Amino acid sequence: MFNLILFGPPGTGKGTQAVKIAEKYGWVHVSTGDILRSEVSQGTPLGLKVKAVMEAGQLVSDELLIEIMESVFGKNMGAKGFVLDGFPRTLKQAEELDDMLKKFGEKISSVLSLKVDEEELVKRLLKRAQDQGRKDDTEEVIKNRLLQYHQHTKPLIDYYEKKKLFQEVIGVGGIEDIFNTLCSVINDKL
Ligand code: ADP
Repeated sequence: MFNLILFGPPGTGKGTQAVKIAEKYGWVHVSTGDILRSEVSQGTPLGLKVKAVMEAGQLVSDELLIEIMESVFGKNMGAKGFVLDGFPRTLKQAEELDDMLKKFGEKISSVLSLKVDEEELVKRLLKRAQDQGRKDDTEEVIKNRLLQYHQHTKPLIDYYEKKKLFQEVIGVGGIEDIFNTLCSVINDKL
């Protein structure tokens, strides 16, 4: 089983690349952002709980995320691999993820981070706001999401560097070019 984490701040194009990677390798794409947004749009009890937090660009609690991921793994453990997109986002989530995988005799295979400078990120997120109308893509909320990234998610670089799993890939350029670069890095690890 190949367990890939696509890492990086909001707006780096993780979601786009995660879909393509999952399709090419036959792996399960897990976007916690998509899972949460779907709960919100269906108005489930979980959705009602997280709506305001997401719209403010804050992080949903580790406990809820871990519950969600346990259920995702439980349902898909026969899979050939996973592409995790948007999880883990805190040190606690990363540690819990290691424990969860261990229970299934699995571990993280690689953490690939898409590198895009911050000015470009804000530009992309504002454009996505116009195109898709996501409620958390306003300038104020974008700033908050980037702040959350710097405070809570960026420390994970160190966590995965120590495990020799972390690698950066250029995230600027055409979607296909970035995809090809990601694939060649992945192919080396298969
Ligand atoms: P982005 O495109 O900004 O990276 P996502 O689509 O991955 O955003 O997630 C949208 C929102 O969902 C986040 O701002 C956060 O509120 C919530 N969320 C998603 N994944 C997590 C997570 N692993 N931990 C906490 N909150 C999360």
